[in-house]
Amino acid sequence: MNQKISAVKGMNDILPPESARWEWLEDKVRQLMARYAYRNIRTPIVEPTALFVRGLGEVTDIVEKEMYSFEDRLNGEQLTLRPESTAGVVRAVAEHSLLYDGGKRLYYMGPMFRHERPQRGRYRQFHQIGAEALGFAGPDVDAEIILLAHALWKELGLRDVRLEINSLGQPEERRQHRAELIAYLERHAGLLDEDARRRLHTNPLRILDTKNPAMQAMVEGAPRLIDFLGEASLAHFDGLKAMLEANDIAYRINPRLVRGMDYYNLSVFEFITDSLGAQGTICAGGRYDYLIEEIGGKRAPAVGWALGVERVLELVKEHGGGAEPPAPDAYAVVPDARVLPLALKTLQGLRAAGVSVQMHAASADGMGSMKSQFKKADASGARYGLIFGADELARGMVTVKALRDGSGAQVERPLGQPADWAAALKA
Ligand code: ATP
Ligand code: MG
Repeated sequence: MNQKISAVKGMNDILPPESARWEWLEDKVRQLMARYAYRNIRTPIVEPTALFVRGLGEVTDIVEKEMYSFEDRLNGEQLTLRPESTAGVVRAVAEHSLLYDGGKRLYYMGPMFRHERPQRGRYRQFHQIGAEALGFAGPDVDAEIILLAHALWKELGLRDVRLEINSLGQPEERRQHRAELIAYLERHAGLLDEDARRRLHTNPLRILDTKNPAMQAMVEGAPRLIDFLGEASLAHFDGLKAMLEANDIAYRINPRLVRGMDYYNLSVFEFITDSLGAQGTICAGGRYDYLIEEIGGKRAPAVGWALGVERVLELVKEHGGGAEPPAPDAYAVVPDARVLPLALKTLQGLRAAGVSVQMHAASADGMGSMKSQFKKADASGARYGLIFGADELARGMVTVKALRDGSGAQVERPLGQPADWAAALKA
């Protein structure tokens, strides 16, 4: 035997029955997005590296150390597996002038790639579902998109998800805060870890986001961005808060909430749970009014969020939610391999009529005994057995046997007209 090849570290196979939970979540998301009139967008998994360097910012965890970047061997292009999707969505929106006739509400689902240390809730290929509203400036859309996420938690049966919000203001307000923040951090230089020292003059705001417990107390005393906001920024923030309150959405203002990407301004928010250990942020987002311009489009306001599918599903599981793979309606018992062509044809007719049927297929040593076929039928969870036995076939019939109601009742049905009796098999 050849040497076994395994999946890349931190990249997971999603297998049945677990994949049913994924489909269940995706269905819920599609239905919910439709109710909020958000439309699906699908962008490439590979993008020019420059999109992320410019869009996310050079001094961010993602761009500094987490990107899967490579050179196209054929033409030398610098490419990157997308670490997130907002930059790609914004590129597509600009490239196709999607905002020419007004704002757009979009959503996506798909795999993202970051070279991180794999652990519970943190993988190298992981999945995000995201919502983006582009072309709308007011806090009403910030509120809408937060309400959308909140509605999703409800749909999924999640409890104990709390909302934290903050405002990052506008670039000019951040510049003023930044100067005072740097001065403060310089006064506490002895407490800064290596990451923080490196970021002191490039991205000091991100130091506030540190996960280093030794820096917590120092960071808590740092000048707060929120105290530097002008009237317009505060009004925007107040607008959002009022709309959340009007909808009974509980939130906590976290003045140290900054996001990993540079592109955010005004509202930022996270949905957090305490049930998942260290990786407790299940969804994060905010406003990014300057990103479109940054990557070469015409300036337009925008707000969005992305949720981590693995983390959300872990929480779903903890609450005992999500679906098992559905059992088929019927299982076809085929005692004789010579009957398979006829059986297949009947099953096609039933399936076309909406019945889900699993067929007992031939294996290397034949069809197996009736007993073993009925065992498989039972294990499949099907409510009916379809028995393609020689006697009934001679009469042009197939036997339908109830497998689960305890009655074991049997009836014969005409092979030729499956559509006529299909309805009786459906759940
Ligand atoms: P963290 O602080 O946990 O690294 P982040 O700020 O890098 O998160 P975002 O880029 O905002 O995360 O992504 C949004 C969501 O995607 C996160 O809240 C999380 O649920 C999920 N996510 C991010 N990185 C990973 C990963 N490596 N594996 C699994 N899920 C992830
Ligand atoms: Mg991260």
